[in-house]
Amino acid sequence: MSQNVENKIHQTIIIGSGPAGYTAAIYAARANMEPIIITGMQPGGQLTTTTEVENFPGYPNGITGPEMMVELQQQAERFGTQVIFDMVTQVEFDKSGQHIHKVRTANGQEFSTRSIIISTGASAKYLGLEDETKYAGSGVSACATCDGFFYRGKDVAVIGGGDTAAEEATYLAKLCRKVYLLVRKEEMRASKVMQERVFKTPNLELMYNHELIGLEGDGVVEKAIIYNNQTEQQSQLQVDGVFIAIGHKPNTDLFVGMLDMDANGYLLTRDKTTHTNVPGVFACGDVQDHIYRQAVTAAGSGCMAALDAERYVAELEAALSPAL
Ligand code: NDP
Repeated sequence: MSQNVENKIHQTIIIGSGPAGYTAAIYAARANMEPIIITGMQPGGQLTTTTEVENFPGYPNGITGPEMMVELQQQAERFGTQVIFDMVTQVEFDKSGQHIHKVRTANGQEFSTRSIIISTGASAKYLGLEDETKYAGSGVSACATCDGFFYRGKDVAVIGGGDTAAEEATYLAKLCRKVYLLVRKEEMRASKVMQERVFKTPNLELMYNHELIGLEGDGVVEKAIIYNNQTEQQSQLQVDGVFIAIGHKPNTDLFVGMLDMDANGYLLTRDKTTHTNVPGVFACGDVQDHIYRQAVTAAGSGCMAALDAERYVAELEAALSPAL
């Protein structure tokens, strides 16, 4: 791979192009930081896998996830953001004390920068069934807050036994006629308080020792094929949708051993800011947030990261420039 190494020291490089990354880009660009955003493997991030987004303020008629990401990209570009469709393969935080970080990409580009904004997001975990791909967006979802509305008055199944599954199932129970919660063990892993909420929800049926093994339907999900791992019996559930809620994985493999993370791999930020433990490196969006995980909260933290980076770079440059 030929290397394309620039000499320029950029003010900020944004890694990841979901709502957090693009919002950081809009703010950084408007602050004359001339940001570069490196999109990653899934330009636009998780929102490009959802259909209609109806809960982002400012879109009274809703907008599709992919359209919203195109608009965010255009808004970032309008103020001079450079969008690079490439994958970051390596980062090297300042070692020499010169306050320069390096970012390297799959296409052999290398950038030097004063600050890095990490907005690499998180990926929902899936079971790995072929039918999940076949019915993606047609009855299979990994986000009740995003897609639950489309199943109003219908029957759905939620897969998982942790806090995410409990939360998704109780949320959906408010919208749907009936929710089946399939837990593969004979107990839930979710916290006691969340389990209590599940037990108390009348239209939520808890099915322990059950696994999803397939889906059927004419273009859209009509049936879930399930397996009882105690009785070893296979059966069917008549459902219009299936929500996979077996957890998320933050996209932080690049930073293992380099940045502070919690036990699940989410980046840790300092106090109420986006500062990581490395000076000049900031984190925003789902990569540092396993609680809210919404486009609008990600966008808000992207704004915070750009403001933090701008302040950091301004103070650094003032300190580095020779006294007048
Ligand atoms: P968890 O890892 O806690 O739970 C995952 C669940 O999915 C487990 O019940 C697991 O089963 C099940 N699972 C995993 N793989 C499969 C599979 N292949 N087939 C069937 N079931 C499977 O993930 P969560 O996303 O629920 O939670 C992650 C973290 O985020 C936790 O710390 C949680 O407390 C936190 N969280 C907090 C919330 C809040 O405070 N409001 C809301 C959501 C999450 P098994 O138990 O058998 O391994």
